Formats: sequence, structure tokens, C-alpha cells
Amino acid sequence: MVSTIKKIKGLYSYEDFTGTIQDFSSQYAQDITPQTYFGFPLQPILDIENSLLSEKVKSVAYFSMEYGLAPSIYNSLALSRPMSEENQYFTHQVFSNYWLCDYLFKVKIDKMLDIPIYGGGLGVLAGDTLKSTSDLGISLVGLGILWNKGYFKQNFWYKHGQVPQQMTWDPYDYPGLIPLKNIVTIETKEGPLYLRLWKYYVYSYDKKNACPLILLDSNLEQNREHFRTLTDQLYRSDDVWWKIFQRSILGIGGMKALENLGYNIHCFHLNEGHAAFALLEKYISLEDKGQMEAVKNQFVFTCHTPVAAGHDRFKIHDAAKILAPEYIQAAELFGKEKSSADEINLTHMALNNCSKVNAVAQKHGEVMRLQFPGYAQKIQSITNGVHLHTWTSDSFQQLFDRYKNVFGDWRKNPQNLVNVEQLRDDAVFRGNLFWAHQENKKRLMDILKDWRLKDNVLTIGWARRIAGYKRPALIFHNVDQIIKLAYDVGQLQIILAGKAHPNDNIGGAHIDEILDHIDRLNEHRKVIRVLILENYDTYFGKLLTNSVDVWLNNPLPPFEASGTSGMKAILNGVVQLTTLDGWVVEAAEDNIGWIFGYQHKEGSDIGNEGNLRLDEDAQALCQTLEDVLRMYYQTFSEGQVNPQSPWIDKMINCIKRGAYFNTQRMVNEYNEKMWQPTVAQKTIRLK
Ligand SMILES: *Cc1c(COP(=O)(O)O)cnc(C)c1O
Repeated sequence: MVSTIKKIKGLYSYEDFTGTIQDFSSQYAQDITPQTYFGFPLQPILDIENSLLSEKVKSVAYFSMEYGLAPSIYNSLALSRPMSEENQYFTHQVFSNYWLCDYLFKVKIDKMLDIPIYGGGLGVLAGDTLKSTSDLGISLVGLGILWNKGYFKQNFWYKHGQVPQQMTWDPYDYPGLIPLKNIVTIETKEGPLYLRLWKYYVYSYDKKNACPLILLDSNLEQNREHFRTLTDQLYRSDDVWWKIFQRSILGIGGMKALENLGYNIHCFHLNEGHAAFALLEKYISLEDKGQMEAVKNQFVFTCHTPVAAGHDRFKIHDAAKILAPEYIQAAELFGKEKSSADEINLTHMALNNCSKVNAVAQKHGEVMRLQFPGYAQKIQSITNGVHLHTWTSDSFQQLFDRYKNVFGDWRKNPQNLVNVEQLRDDAVFRGNLFWAHQENKKRLMDILKDWRLKDNVLTIGWARRIAGYKRPALIFHNVDQIIKLAYDVGQLQIILAGKAHPNDNIGGAHIDEILDHIDRLNEHRKVIRVLILENYDTYFGKLLTNSVDVWLNNPLPPFEASGTSGMKAILNGVVQLTTLDGWVVEAAEDNIGWIFGYQHKEGSDIGNEGNLRLDEDAQALCQTLEDVLRMYYQTFSEGQVNPQSPWIDKMINCIKRGAYFNTQRMVNEYNEKMWQPTVAQKTIRLK
């Protein structure tokens, strides 16, 4: 552990750093030298450690159950020895209407596996948040869990749907991920639970800053057998026992980790209610409980879930079987919805006790204030974003670089993307823009070459977590009409991907439904090609959002708190075919594509997921799709682009809005509205 003296002097050195690492000399000495950290510069690590240890810097701790860091596509740290096979990318299976035996073909990608500690958009947002804080040089540390078996591996079996399989990976052989000697302990009713701390550093785009992510791991020999599996699988929810333990590890274990590492934290950011037990740990650690009111000022909370059922609730008698009595007393004090309740609600715990609360889009703020009128005053909206450097394709980066006089240093200043307006009437640019897109599309078709997709056929992408309100099978609801459009107006290619939580039967049923439709579309494969990819992840997230022509987003309003995949698409000029929900509400006037379907009126009841409005909205989707097809084939036919096409205006509008829907803008807002005035300063370099 780091001593106080070094804290004051700010002399955290290479030796201090390597001294914290488990088995440094036998495992990591090759990759961590006085100059380098897995191929990246070491200095930013010493700087941020100094900064977090310093009492002079007001640092932030960010808690999240999942992180999608996407090192396979951005800032890949390097191992000096060959990586174990477990950490290499596996092949992907595809299910299509083109082949009757797709299993004869596989998509092979020679890449490292992403750290498998995320399930979907929430995790990707947390990862993008760390990247942008690092880009901005803000002093922040992330807290999360080392999921030893990741989320799960997805297989499709025709007639059986999604068959989840356990995945494996090797954290001890993952570039940039290091186990520390530090171990923290949570006292539970079943005895001590030991948690090892791991570190991973998230570098800024210019590699001048980094921020550490601390991951907690229960897979230790000194733990009793069933404790070792607690950090196996993200969102394992066989029973309430798992859930309570996993939330305790994040909230309580996370606070203990900060203490153990000697970090001086001035603001604790709970990303979603999962981390709310952090408040209990803070309360218990106070000698003078009267300080709690003041301490609450240090806590802030981001809520992502517009569905009440999505909020964690636990019966007090269940929690009491697991946690020591002092935690239960604190939970009763802070976490009940009503004083008479026999359960604790983590969302209420966070809402009640955090000084600042935010929703993740304007519309979500409106819905949240409706849901929690008691806290309406407190709820702000900070609209999500995506990390520009991760999600912008190479061809678009090159395009922006080529027009440097217009975009300037757009990597440092993403807001410069609004300048694309200056090029609106430039026919050469309009053509270049379309061809930059075609380059991405060709790459996608090349990766999927066994399915013989065509780069001159309108291609629609839909990929995200499979959940009821996201209506993954909406486009097939009126499948006969879609077939008719493909024959009468123009050919169509549809690519889908997504995982359903293994216990989510409704999500699983959607996958079955899609597989059935795909099978039945076999006879129309000449005009309509449909593919669904297994194991959707950030690699495919980038590939699809960068490369298709149209990004389809059809959640039932107002259930999509924000959504972020469309933001990845707009950075690459991929136009939107979307319902009016989440972030899209804020871009509705900007003509970034087509909006269709049911709209939620301000102030009206949020409805329920039992009525997905499939009939009306599938009808609206088909009608709109006809316009999309017509405009596409007027824009691009026989290998020729019409640079005057309004399609290209939509592409320009997309890029222009990318200036706003990025995490650099979002993190600046967090800094100003949530972390400030407690936190504002940048990482200081103590030298
Ligand atoms: C961006 C992303 C998501 C989020 O998609 P939404 O449309 O916002 O739900 C989910 N999964 C992966 C792998 C992503 O990259």
C-alpha cells in the first residue's frame, strides 16, 4: 500500500507502481518498464496515480457494473509474448436466408477478445465515459467487477433459438490488465468475502493521460468455494442471493478498494442503481454519523432505466441473510421507498441520498420526473454520447483530415464537426462523403463475403441488446409487405445482431421469431437478403454502425432512455430510420433520416411493455421504408452517385449532430453539473 508521505510529496514512482503488482517479476516485467506499459507510455499512469493520491486534487470515483472498453478496436495494448488462445477472437456463426447450411461458413476475425466485462449499451457508455475523461485529463478512477466468465457466449440453433454457453477467457494473460497484491474484505453472514483488486488503464486518444479502472474479483483461493464464483458472470440472476452479493461487491467492495488504495475521492458517481450500496459503506465508515448529510453532497447518481421493473429491489430479510447487521440498519435508513416497506429499492436509495441525479436524455428526464415526482426538482438531463475516436471509422477520419481547413483539430475538438455545413454545397465533398461510406460498406461485405452481399443494394442494420421494448423483429412483422417492396421498389439487405439475457424468455422468443422469418425468406433471397450474426459485441458494433446505409432503431417510446448505437452511426454518415425516442427526440428537427411510428406525448402515462404497438408501427415502418428505398436508388445506381441527392444532405446532417452526441461533450457536462463544484481540476502533474 502507498504511504501517506508519498501522497504528500507526490512521488509515486515506477517502483511504487510495480511494487503493487502481484507476481510482477515473473509475469509482467517484460511489459511494464520505466518507460512503457504494454507498449504505451508509462508516465500518464504515474501522473494519474499521483493525482488520485493527492489531497489537493478533487478526484471522482465512477462506479459501474459493466464496462465496454473495446480494446479490440481502439487503443489496443500489446503483450510482448503471444496471447493465449482463449483471449483471441473466436469465429462467428451467421444465420441467413441465403444458405440453408450457414454452419458450413464462419466469419473469422483475427483480433484480440474485448475484455468481456459488459453486456450492452450501459457498459459501452461507461467505457466511453472513461475514455473521454482521460481525453480531457480529468482525475477519475473507475470501479467495476472482473467477470471471470464474462457475460455469455451466444449460439443460434435453428428451432431452438439462442442457446447460451459459458465463455472463458484468461485475465492473467490479457494485455494491460494487472492483478494487484491488494485484497479487500467484506464481512458477510457467511464469513469473510475476499476480493482481489485488478487494474486496467484507459488511455486518452493522444496517450498523454490515462485513467485507472479498478476491478474486483472474488475468485481467490482463500474464499470459500461458492464465494469464488460470485464474480463469474455479469447479471447472473438465478436468485436474489447472487444479485445482492454482486451489488455488495460493487458498492461496498468498491468503496473499500478506494480506501485501500489510498485515493482521495471528492465525488462518488453511481452509474445506475446497482452501485447504491456504496452509500451504506460510506455511512458505516463515518465515526460521526451526523456527518452523513454533508457526505451526501459527494454522491451523484445517473439513472438509465425508464422501466420501474428494471430497478433493483430486495426484501430486507433476504439482504439480512447476507450482509452484516450494520449494513441492514443503514439500508433500512436509506433504501426504503416508504418507511413501512419490507424491501429496499436501490434506485430510491440513490435518488434519496445523492445530491445530484441525472437522466440520460431530455426525454428520459421528462419520463423520470413523471415516475419519481418526489424527486422531480433534483432530476437533470445529461444526454448520452459516444466516444468519437472509438466509433469513427478510418475512412471518415481520413475524410475529416483531408478537409483540415474545415474541421481543424476535430479529434481534440469534436464540436468542429458542425463545420461540415460549410461543405454542404461542395459537390466534390458530397461525392467524397458517399465514397468514404462505400469504403466502409465494402469492408463489411468483404468480411461477410460468403453470404454474397452487394455493395450497391440498400443495407439496413439493427443490432443491440435483444429486449422486448426494442422490438427486434418489428421489420418482419409485415413480412409480406417488405417482400413486395423488395420486388417492386428495390432490393434490400438486412443485418441483425444482439444477445438476449439468458433468463429473458421474451427476448429469447424474439430471436426464435427472427430465425423463423429468416428461414421462410429463403425463397426470396434474390431480392432480400437477411443475416443475423452471433455474439454481438463492440467489434461488430463498430463494423455495423460504420458500414450499413441505414441504421434501424425502433424501440417503443418512451422506453429507450437514450440509446447510443445510432450516435455511432451518425459519426459515419449512416442515416437513421427510427422511432421518436431517447436521444433521437433531440435530433428530430435535424433531418438525420426518417422518423416513423408511435409518439409519446409529454406528460402522458408511459404505457406498458405488454402493448408493443407492433401492428401500427410495423405498418408505419413499411410505408417509410418505401421512401427510403426510392431515395436510395435515386442516389446510387449502376455504380454512379448523384451528389445532389437529398440522401447526402441527410448524411451531412448526421455528421453535424455528431458534434453534439459524443462523450466529450457529455463528460464536460458531467463535470460542470454533477462533479462540480466538488471537482473541476485537471490531473495535475506533480513533477
Ligand atoms: C453501442 C452498443 C450497444 C448499445 O446499443 P443501443 O442501440 O443503444 O441499445 C449495445 N451493444 C453493443 C455491443 C454496442 O456497441
